[in-house]
Amino acid sequence: MTHNLIIIGSGPAAWTAAIYASRALLSPIVLGGEQGGGQLMFTSDVENYPGFEHGIQGPDLMAAMRKQAERFGARVIERDAISLSVIGSQFSVVCSGSVGFQSVGSKPINRQLTNDKPKTENGKQITGRAVIIATGARANTLKLPGEDRLMGRGVGACAVCDAPFYKGKNVVFVIGGGDSAVEEATALAKFAKKVILLVRSDSLRASEIMKNRIKSYANIQIWYKSQVKEFIGEKKLEKVRIERTGTVEDIAADGLFYAIGHTPSTGWLNGSGVEIDEKGYILTLFSQTIGLQTSDIRLSEQFGPKSEVRSPRSEFPTMTSVPGIFAAGDCVDPCYRQAITAAGFGAMAALDAERWLNAKNG
Ligand code: NDP
Repeated sequence: MTHNLIIIGSGPAAWTAAIYASRALLSPIVLGGEQGGGQLMFTSDVENYPGFEHGIQGPDLMAAMRKQAERFGARVIERDAISLSVIGSQFSVVCSGSVGFQSVGSKPINRQLTNDKPKTENGKQITGRAVIIATGARANTLKLPGEDRLMGRGVGACAVCDAPFYKGKNVVFVIGGGDSAVEEATALAKFAKKVILLVRSDSLRASEIMKNRIKSYANIQIWYKSQVKEFIGEKKLEKVRIERTGTVEDIAADGLFYAIGHTPSTGWLNGSGVEIDEKGYILTLFSQTIGLQTSDIRLSEQFGPKSEVRSPRSEFPTMTSVPGIFAAGDCVDPCYRQAITAAGFGAMAALDAERWLNAKNG
């Protein structure tokens, strides 16, 4: 059976795409991954997602989005995508393990909106007429002793999201020396008494404008040649073991944030024809036109030579270099990386996919 639309991923971009696509009666299949839920599964309080006056737990937000998509007929397969290929005018996605539709206890109640009922399909391959890739990105971490225990309990990877929780706290560390690290440090410095940037080398990699920005915060210190060795604390982070210019010390800490880059989950796209930049972010017309990607790579085959990247008003801005394959969320976006921006991208990709399918079907 060939599905209208396969959505790959299970973060805010994927679920939002699934909500839009299912309400457009496309009966999308969501290939949600074996672990599912994306970065928000490791996030406790989310206070910046609109609509939740008192905040919401990350996993609860993901579960609610999934149920909303299922209510309109989206069906979920809890398998990872392993590869994607074009076969004639269709797309084939190879999944991990055997494929079976799952439900989280909520049957699609608007049955009249779906043409067919949930069912089981065996095999490792699903085919679709269009695909939305929303596989996200993972914050790089150092996998240090204590990290698994304290992740989300003082150790984190998005200070811009969590900074207000550190209001009045004494010391918060940020690891990294790039633009993200400076951005995280300045976000925290508005709330914490002291923010210490831990840089492994003897210089910041951040751009000049970001380096200048840091100078206007008297409560930000930079420790060069510093490396974290361990996180200490049982239920929450209490101390950080730091090696600094040859000396190892345990230093009291209220929080620590990684800002050592992100890795988009796009390695599985090798050989698919979907163009990615040198850091692994998927290239779409929209992301390039608004300058999300810093790369010089331009979508060449689909959209013409380098100098001819079209305006965002082009017909299908979230389309990748392969017609019919769209991309949304953090796998496209090295810049904003917020749940709400990913959700917005997901809506755009679903609308583009719907219009593309309509145009294709005449
Ligand atoms: P970057 O790759 O630019 O920087 C990563 C930083 O992490 C570097 O300082 C690097 O150190 C450090 N690092 C890497 N591995 C380790 C490690 N094992 N231990 C300690 N430190 C480590 O990533 P960013 O996320 O900062 O930025 C990504 C892109 O997004 C960039 O193009 C950036 O310009 C852009 N961006 C722009 C922003 C803005 O303009 N407002 C905000 C955020 C990002 P070293 O230098 O020694 O390699």
